[in-house]
Amino acid sequence: MAENEQDKLMQKPGLLGLVLDALPVGIWILDRHGGIVYGNPEGRKIWAGSRPVGIDRFGEYKGWWRGSGKQIAPEEWAAARAIGQGETSLNEEAEIECFDGTRKIILHSAMPIRCEAGNIIGGMVVNVDITERIRLEDFLRNAADTDELTQTWNRRHFYELLHEEIQRAARYGRPLSLIMFDIDLFKRINDSHGHAVGDQVLVFVSREVRNEVRVTEHLARVGGDEFMLLLPETGLREAGSTAERLRELFAERALKPFGRVSCSFGVCEYQPGESVDDFMRRADEALYEAKEAGRGRVAVAS
Ligand code: GH3
Ligand code: MG
Repeated sequence: MAENEQDKLMQKPGLLGLVLDALPVGIWILDRHGGIVYGNPEGRKIWAGSRPVGIDRFGEYKGWWRGSGKQIAPEEWAAARAIGQGETSLNEEAEIECFDGTRKIILHSAMPIRCEAGNIIGGMVVNVDITERIRLEDFLRNAADTDELTQTWNRRHFYELLHEEIQRAARYGRPLSLIMFDIDLFKRINDSHGHAVGDQVLVFVSREVRNEVRVTEHLARVGGDEFMLLLPETGLREAGSTAERLRELFAERALKPFGRVSCSFGVCEYQPGESVDDFMRRADEALYEAKEAGRGRVAVAS
């Protein structure tokens, strides 16, 4: 293309409009009061429309900072900071409530627009919709940390949680307890009823325990029929009572049509300075003691 033709193409009226229409990024131009002068199609798609309100009514925009989860105050919106203080902000993550009531996660940027004399005459806001990416990331992270059969945490993630909770307990001098439990004579269940029924028993045990514990407590399947329940803010006596409650629960409730399932429990409390391995070993020894004493029991490590 000849150079002057190229120049002409660049100057063609409406070319910028074409680009803005096609951009997969939301663009908003605001006047110096925060009123919307222009919004491109992607911007209106992200917010499900537009609301031409000035900075004095930015409270009508609903959003929360990702990370802290705190609601974005009217003066905290990137556009308000750009127009008010001349601040440029890049890719701040926010969850927004769109005008149709749905929620989206966006990257939010804004910068002031100045006249030749340097005074702020408005602002530009750029929005990128990252909802799908974040949902996929959350899904994959969760899948990588979860035992597929029982939907409890897997062994790898359990060790991460264990390290975190030990650090927290040590830093703040708080109690932390561990219940290790294992289904009694599970091999026999598999042998006499088949592997599929064995799987159902594993799911049943996980579900019953999860229904009994708090959201802050971590349940994981760490081996075939072996589970861990990590109890932050819990001392040995309380953890022992929890294990006893779970033992009784399995003595009472049955999995239809299979029948009752018995489990053995080993309980111990974290000792200051103890290694992760020693903490686990003491729970394992307590569980072994419960098995040795006849199964369907709770043993508490001294
Ligand atoms: P104990 O009372 O001493 O624990 O006896 P047990 O028969 O339960 O012995 P153990 O805990 O060693 O048995 C674990 C069995 O779990 C062995 C293995 O075949 C079975 N298993 C491991 N993973 C799975 C699984 O995902 N599904 C099923 N159905 N069985 C599994
Ligand atoms: Mg077992």
